[in-house]
Amino acid sequence: LQDASKPHFVLVPFMAQGHTIPMIDMAHLLAKHGAMVSFITTPVNASRIQSTIDSAGELDIPIQFVPFQLPCAQVGLPDGCENVDRVLEKDQVKKLTDAYSMLHKPLVLYLRQQTVPPSCIISDLCQPWTGDVAREFGIPRLMFNGFCAFSSLCRYLIHQDMVFENVDDGDELVVLPGFPHHLEVSKARSPGNFNSPGFEKFSEKILDEERRADSVITNSFYELEPLYVDAYQKRIGKRVWTIGPMFLCNADRGTMTDRGAKASVNEKHCMEWLDSMQHGSVLYVSFGSMACTVASQVEEIALGLEASKRPFLWVIKSDDRTTEIDELLPEGFEGRTRCRGLIIQGWAPQAMILSHPSIGGFVTHCGWNSTIEGISAGLPMITWPHCAEQFLNEELIVNVLKVGLAVGVQSITNRTMKPHEISIVKREQIERAVVELMGEDAGAKERRTRAKELKEKARKAIDEGSSYSNIRQLIEYISIRVT
Ligand code: UDP
Repeated sequence: LQDASKPHFVLVPFMAQGHTIPMIDMAHLLAKHGAMVSFITTPVNASRIQSTIDSAGELDIPIQFVPFQLPCAQVGLPDGCENVDRVLEKDQVKKLTDAYSMLHKPLVLYLRQQTVPPSCIISDLCQPWTGDVAREFGIPRLMFNGFCAFSSLCRYLIHQDMVFENVDDGDELVVLPGFPHHLEVSKARSPGNFNSPGFEKFSEKILDEERRADSVITNSFYELEPLYVDAYQKRIGKRVWTIGPMFLCNADRGTMTDRGAKASVNEKHCMEWLDSMQHGSVLYVSFGSMACTVASQVEEIALGLEASKRPFLWVIKSDDRTTEIDELLPEGFEGRTRCRGLIIQGWAPQAMILSHPSIGGFVTHCGWNSTIEGISAGLPMITWPHCAEQFLNEELIVNVLKVGLAVGVQSITNRTMKPHEISIVKREQIERAVVELMGEDAGAKERRTRAKELKEKARKAIDEGSSYSNIRQLIEYISIRVT
């Protein structure tokens, strides 16, 4: 694995599926284009991504997965609590970020032992401590934030210009100064996980390291959002490397199965079911890796899907883990929709499903990975944001790219909220959106045509276009810096 002729990229993801999965794709992409890669993880996370690691081995791609034990006990976390997905309380997230920063010493030690010294660190926005490690080795730190350029720019402007400083009402709309066009944002619908009480120092460190970072890597492609890539780049005064959609570099190489976790469905059965459905007829419904659906919302979705009369493949992650999913579903629902519905409870092989020709639409929570996967599959989308930057992504999908239809979510939903605090999307809203998206009126056809065009552009960008040339330039840029 150690090849002195190659630049050595050290990748430090944040330990949540939505952050780790694209970094694994990045590792593959860099290795494929001739870099040596060390991927820093933890034993618990390494076991979760084992299948992806194995497939990297099979592909003979030189990635070293380096599992460091997190000092959980030292920060008051139970053993094995290594992943944000499993950590429900905010104060535990805080402890977890502290535990990560304690990897500073072991990482330095590891890097000192390498025959090939590190050339750069690419780390998640939420791993700001890696800036100090990079400086210790005199190498650049490149920041990966998992957002698209549109939402990155919004986030940057909101934080840098303290847009909500004097805003108390979370729903108050504020015009975002410095944005390329008129855009109104609200505090409640903007990314701010780390701006809550207790996170002030961490948040400050993130911003500081963002300013000090050499450049920024984005899992998007230039042709998708040129206005925002240019504006973001100009505003932060550094290079924004658009190298996505990164997962496409492996889409034909077997790494689409068990992506991020072991699927809770027999993948062959799932594909056979899709094979049996009509081309472009099935709606895929999934809200990513973190969001859980409360029982009353499960019922509304079920009745909305049933009333739409469309085929569906629905991934349910219920917040109520003690109850079997069929107990949450309306009585007789499964029987009535048996011929046109498939439910996966738990983890779905999403990228594989989305690329199946029977899928014709995607109900998404607008996490950026899901969004870019939907775009790459050429699918029109029903947008159903829950939290983080998802409301900003919804704006991009619906009003800028015009490939989506908003289901009409009014307020934020996150897994720390109590069921009564969550505002439920009603079955009629769901039915209306599904019928409209999957229908044949002019708007639906235009959405589909635009989505197909974006699919073509995405494929071209990674195969031979802007993302392909950016990844090569990036490797060359780092190689030159170390020689
Ligand atoms: N994912 C998956 N199966 C699931 C849920 C999620 O493969 O059942 C993958 C999905 O394809 C995407 C990632 O997990 O790559 C989720 O990231 P996203 O940014 O969409 O949302 P998050 O989970 O961070 O909210």
